Amino acid sequence: MRNKLALWFDPAKCLINGEWTAPSGGGTLPLYNPSTGEEIGAIARGTSEDIDAAVAAAEAARNGVWGKTTAVERGRILFKLRELVLQKVEELARIEAIDVGKPLKQARADAIALARYLEFYGGAADKLHGETIPYLDGYTVYTLREPHGVTGHIVPWNYPMQIIGRSIGAALATGNACVLKPAEDACLTALAFADLAKAAGLPDGVLNVVPGLGSEAGTALSSHPGIHHVSFTGSVATGVHIQTAAAKNVIPVTLELGGKSPQLVFDDADLDAALPFLVNAGMQNAGQTCSASSRILVQRGLYDQVVERMAGRYGDLKVGPALSDLDVGPLISKKQQGIVSTFIDRGADLEKAAEGVLKDAPEGGSYVTPTLFAGVKPDHVLARDEIFGPVQVIIPFDDEDEAVAIANGTDYGLVASIWSRDGARQMRLAKKIRTGQVFINNYGAGGGVELPFGGMGKSGHGREKGFEALYGFTTLKTVAAYHG
Ligand code: NAD
Repeated sequence: MRNKLALWFDPAKCLINGEWTAPSGGGTLPLYNPSTGEEIGAIARGTSEDIDAAVAAAEAARNGVWGKTTAVERGRILFKLRELVLQKVEELARIEAIDVGKPLKQARADAIALARYLEFYGGAADKLHGETIPYLDGYTVYTLREPHGVTGHIVPWNYPMQIIGRSIGAALATGNACVLKPAEDACLTALAFADLAKAAGLPDGVLNVVPGLGSEAGTALSSHPGIHHVSFTGSVATGVHIQTAAAKNVIPVTLELGGKSPQLVFDDADLDAALPFLVNAGMQNAGQTCSASSRILVQRGLYDQVVERMAGRYGDLKVGPALSDLDVGPLISKKQQGIVSTFIDRGADLEKAAEGVLKDAPEGGSYVTPTLFAGVKPDHVLARDEIFGPVQVIIPFDDEDEAVAIANGTDYGLVASIWSRDGARQMRLAKKIRTGQVFINNYGAGGGVELPFGGMGKSGHGREKGFEALYGFTTLKTVAAYHG
């Protein structure tokens, strides 16, 4: 039946030390379907006592069986988990579509990406090693790459499966024991993942999941003296809280906090190739993507064409319920719908170049019409602030220097792309642009799990994805032996 959740686990429980348990206070939080606005169930409202129990279970696991599990065995468990994820791709995709509101094909791609992360990190588990260092006569010096210990993972609602894959995958591969606090707005695939991990043979206590509010379970986890690293993806404001809490325990953090990512279109660009990327990179997951491309910077020679052709594509965008699998789904919640609508209202002084079309969008759903603004000045609020909705601005520029100044002119620095046929310009700009990833004549490179990802400025720090994440989830010990 449409919109019905078919869960094989109880969403109102936490997974602590391998047991599905009701949260200590017995509390629950309502679960809504963003496509319809209906309440469709309840999830656990985890407390600080649940976090205490989860951290204790993780600590015991890393000092016990997990600490003795070899790297190759950890890799094999991740491979087994990958197999189980692949067997459930359609169920996971459907759950994510209903829970997050993202079109089914995008949710399916997330489930497949989760499996690919497990493959990548499963394969990498036994390939990370220290080094020997030539030193003074009589010494042998080497380094050991060791897990941090207990890692905390606080994830948002926009890409639960992908973010769990990249952060839990790398943390488990390197031998950490994890406590995961998924988002209160969408935590079902996190619970499904934990259940599959148990079935894959991950020992009890190695992965614990405590759903709940950020102000309760989230703060309890990020400030817990028993964790040794915290990985967070979400808003800047929450990132600041988390880094402050971590600083009190002097533990490292990885922060991935969103962006205002530009695409720079020069007069010599291949516009036919660029066009799908210019629009899709802003509309993926209804713009609720940290690496969403919300600013399109266009050199004046192509400016009119880009506005016209992007507007044409907007006219074709279909917006509707996630399970109808159209181009754009609803936003995650009524709250986000309100925030994004207010941003659009703040563009009342701008030229609205185009809007998408709502198609059979149920009244109660949290839909926003995709909106394209043209002729926007770089200092306008819509060109500076992260909107996190299906809204893009087109900003004209005259030359390369101006383009770089605009691209680097926000607080963020996550992703950028350069559309130009000039090889020298591509190389120059790739160096000058201050973002963690730069794409040349594409946007996102298909999202490959191999590509390190993370920000500069208020987009955060630390890198997830790729081999680089394995360094982030380990600490380096130097051993210097004197043997004469
Ligand atoms: P948020 O940052 O508040 O929530 C993300 C996660 O952090 C959730 O699991 C939440 O429970 C937890 N959390 C919240 N407050 C916490 C605290 N004090 N301590 C520990 N954990 C805490 O994001 P939101 O309120 O869901 O969304 C608000 C805005 O954040 C969005 O409009 C968007 O701009 C941004 N956002 C960015 C991303 C991203 O991928 N970079 C993802 C989600 C939201």
